[in-house]
Amino acid sequence: MTTVGILGGGQLARMLVLAGAPLGLRFVVLDPAADACAGQCAPLLVGGYGDEAALAAFAARIDVATFDFENVPADSARRLAAQAPVFPSPDALAMAQDRLVEKSLFRELGIPVPAFADVASRDALDAAVAEVGLPCILKTRRLGYDGKGQFRIRDAADLDAAWQALGDQAPRVGLIVEAFVPFDQEYSVVAVRGRDGSFRAWPLTANWHVDGVLSASLAPAQVPESLTVQAQTYARALAERLDYVGVFALELFCRDGALLANEMAPRVHNSGHWTIEGAETSQFENHLRAVLGLPLGATAARGHACMLNWIGAMPDAGPVLAEAGGHWHDYGKQARAGRKVGHATLRADDAEALAEALARVGAALGRDAQVQPVVDALRAR
Ligand code: AMP
Repeated sequence: MTTVGILGGGQLARMLVLAGAPLGLRFVVLDPAADACAGQCAPLLVGGYGDEAALAAFAARIDVATFDFENVPADSARRLAAQAPVFPSPDALAMAQDRLVEKSLFRELGIPVPAFADVASRDALDAAVAEVGLPCILKTRRLGYDGKGQFRIRDAADLDAAWQALGDQAPRVGLIVEAFVPFDQEYSVVAVRGRDGSFRAWPLTANWHVDGVLSASLAPAQVPESLTVQAQTYARALAERLDYVGVFALELFCRDGALLANEMAPRVHNSGHWTIEGAETSQFENHLRAVLGLPLGATAARGHACMLNWIGAMPDAGPVLAEAGGHWHDYGKQARAGRKVGHATLRADDAEALAEALARVGAALGRDAQVQPVVDALRAR
């Protein structure tokens, strides 16, 4: 009997647990919150990631450890790695935790990135903005997620406000300025690398964000094959450099047909949730296969799939469940503004059937604005 330990007990851990059950796996989840939603599906140890006693108790119960949360302190991951195998490695985790280190590595690997510069002080902000140009975005280097810890700088008059918003965080988490990319579309490539170096990537996924938070994903993205191959080549180069084991996502902007890398998430990713019903093997199953050293499953899409995120509160499940290819995921979380509480995936064999199902669901739930860009993308081919 193999027990997988998961650091972080949110919906990603919960979906890993659900994917692991058919493989005969047991799980233990470590999370500081007693109501972490993965705790509804697997034994939950309540404790901080930096708490040595909690980490030791966790390590004693597991055969291998992985993450649902990428901001586990890298030192805690290293301490854990002395007691149990940890995948992905704490070094890979540490790289992905810092936007400056991450973008520097992308550049070194020949993966195009928006112009960026480190910002250590108010004076450095002026210099950095002069270097990358306007408009740009001031971001925390570490601990930012879902658009949090970001300030848009449209012109020089915004500089003081930007520093006021984030400057006090410079000593603790560092700051970076990035050129604002007026992208035509956001994409992500979700990929997996096994312990033996085998590599597979799911089809390119098109993503739409609202206020920095993922709203909808469509896969396969309706793009020329060459764009998918380019994204997968970048992902592979990154995985090989990091000797990465497990699933990760590379988030990309596309402008005039060219890709620019935004960031890497060293874990299963929201833009890969469609793979549960829309691919031969889900990201969750392949992540477990990778960390356990099992053969990886095929990543081919089964028709067309769209994932809709439910933020803040769950809508009525009825209209999704009434669809032939409708699938419902309620994470069992308390409703709270801005919180990801669930998602739905709609799947169909052809693009027009998916567009019609989305339009019906959007109308029934009063969420036309959420589904419309996806419907348009499906019909633009
Ligand atoms: P991030 O936390 O870096 O993934 O940013 C969240 C979202 O903010 C992205 O998915 C984009 O929609 C937007 N965003 C972040 N950085 C940029 C950028 N340099 N240019 C344009 N949009 C951005």
